[in-house]
Parts: sequence; structure tokens; C-alpha cells
Amino acid sequence: MTQLARLLIAQIDADGPMTLADYMSACLMHPTHGYYATRDPLGAAGDFTTAPEISQMFGELIGLCLAQTWLDQGAPAAFALAELGPGRGTLMADILRATRAVPGFHAAAEVHLVETSAALRAVQAKTLDGHTPRWHAGVETLPDLPLFAVANEFFDALPIRQAQRSGDSWRERMVTRDGERLTLALSAPTLLPMLAHRLEDTGEGDIVEFSPAATRITTDLGAHIAARGGATLIVDYGDWRSLGDTFQALRAHAQADPFGAPGEADLTAHVDFEALALAVAPARYTRLTAQGVFLERLGIAQRAQKLAEALSGEARVAHVAAHRRLTHPSEMGTLFKVMALYPEGAAPPPGLLA
Ligand code: SAH
Repeated sequence: MTQLARLLIAQIDADGPMTLADYMSACLMHPTHGYYATRDPLGAAGDFTTAPEISQMFGELIGLCLAQTWLDQGAPAAFALAELGPGRGTLMADILRATRAVPGFHAAAEVHLVETSAALRAVQAKTLDGHTPRWHAGVETLPDLPLFAVANEFFDALPIRQAQRSGDSWRERMVTRDGERLTLALSAPTLLPMLAHRLEDTGEGDIVEFSPAATRITTDLGAHIAARGGATLIVDYGDWRSLGDTFQALRAHAQADPFGAPGEADLTAHVDFEALALAVAPARYTRLTAQGVFLERLGIAQRAQKLAEALSGEARVAHVAAHRRLTHPSEMGTLFKVMALYPEGAAPPPGLLA
């Protein structure tokens, strides 16, 4: 049993079963035993990898997309260039490198990072040495400036709750103990007002997921962008409207039991983009677009070709494989989606449609 499992069992004995969100949040962010708080899961011996770690092309195209959006909005003289959940800082480093040639962009940009993990903040500080990033624990403290931001594989790490349809109400899937093991049990039926609209498309026994944290963060971003200008690109796995149990644990690149070793595995759930879209007003949201399509519209084929010219042998093979991995429908191309928030009256970011 992990130390965190012992703490959670004691808490359940004292207070009763906890929501999946409270469980997930403890597993990922507990200050001393949390998965992200204590390690760099993206490092060489890490549990998973992400698009910016697969190829520099991902961050370069995101950077050019944000720079064009900044130009389209009149190139504001001071703005926050922000990332939510920056991991190792690789994506932001690629954004900064690719936008060096955009006149005025770097002079106007202040780099802001929303990151709760102390271990990852240290890695980001190293990667972004020279760019003087400022860190935030949440989006509420981002500066009062136009905000051009990206969140890649951030929303999937935010705590979710799960509810199972029971008549016209819901039984919440709660974390409880079974002897020395943690497991799920259903609550008594309750009315969950935030799921009222899901009574239309679900049947008895269906499971739906919802993330109060994701909704709150998106509402804050929408308000910020509507008031100050800017845009946020959200890239993640998921789809329009959640249905079914997508809660999963990943350890050493393999599926694991999410209750097996709390604090030792990455826990995620698919992102419900509809729930995010419903939270952005008064800002607008773009159509949900497959990552492969988005990157192709931004010119990944040309960029890949150009980079390939300078490569040979194994490096070239790896580069071709990375391009395929980011865009192909059987890899990350369709599972991953992109949606942007942007202000009323502005053009949507390149690669995305209103
Ligand atoms: N965007 C990076 C890393 C994705 S991993 C990449 O694409 O490689 C998820 C990141 O989100 C980590 O940096 C993690 O520490 C951070 N994170 C998770 N939950 C968070 C929260 N509630 N607030 C701020 N950061 C969070």
C-alpha cells in the first residue's frame, strides 16, 4: 500500500466515501505524495509522452498559430503568452523559438505558466532559462492583459466526477474502501443540477463524467479573453459530450488500475469539449477539430519536408514516424482534438473554424 493510500483510507474512515474528483486531485497533486507534485512523468524514464515531446513541429505550429492570432487582433503592445500545465516546458520553448522572427512578438510577450507541481516548475525554469517566466497556481492570477495561451494535455488531468443514471436522478460513483483496498461504490440517488441536460440523451445505467474544475477554469479564461482579447488553444483527447467511463491510469506507458497505487500512476479522463464550450460565454469557441486536420491546415507537411532535408539515417526515420504519430488517424490524429476560445468579433485562430 502506498503512503497516500493509507492517508486516503484514514480520511474515508473519518469522513465517508469521497468523490472521484477529490481522489484524483489527491493522487495527482497531494503536496508530498501526489504524482505530479513529486516527479517529472515526461522525463526519459517517464510514464507517458506528449505531442511536444514527440516532435518540435507541434510547438512550432502552435507558436505560429498564436502569433498570427496576435497579428489578427492588431498586435497588442503587451500581452501574456501563457501555457496551462507546461510539463517540461518543451512546448513553450518551441513556441518561443518559432516566433523569434515575428516582428514585435517577443518584445510584447510576457511568459506566464500555470503550474501547480513544484517538481515540474523546476524543470520548466531550466528549459525556459532566459525567458523569465512567471508561475501561477491558477488562471485567476494571470495578468490583466490580452491572453494568448495554449493548454496541451492539461484538461485531461483535471479532476472529474462520475455519475450513473438512475431513473431521473443520478448515483455518484464514490471512492470508498473494501478492507485494505480502495474501490468504487454508488451513492444514494441525488439530483445533480449540472447534469440536467444529460437526462435528454442518456438511459438507465449510463455513466457520464463532469469536471467542475474544467468548467471553472474555462469560464475564467472566457471572461478574460472577452474582456482583454487574446485566444486559448485547447488540445486534448476527448470528444463532444462525454458518455461512459474514461477514467484511466497510466504507468510506465501501460494501462494500470486507477485505484491500485494512488500517487504512483498518472490519472486522466477524456475531455468533454461540449462542457468547455458551454462555459466560455461571453467569449466564443471554434468548431472542434481533429489534431491531424488542424496541424495539416497549419502546414505540418511542408514543415516536415523542410526538416527532413537536413536529416538522414535513423534521425530521418524517427522524424517521419513522429510526423505520422501526430497526424495519422490511427495514432494521435483523430483521438486528439483542438478547440479555441476567442473574442466576439475577432477571427478564429488559423486552422480552426468559427
Ligand atoms: N503540456 C505538457 C504537459 C502535460 S502533463 C505537454 O504537452 O507535454 C499535465 C501538466 O499539467 C503537468 O505540467 C501538470 O503538473 C499540470 N497540471 C495538472 N493539473 C494541474 C492543475 N490543476 N493546475 C495546474 N497545473 C496542473
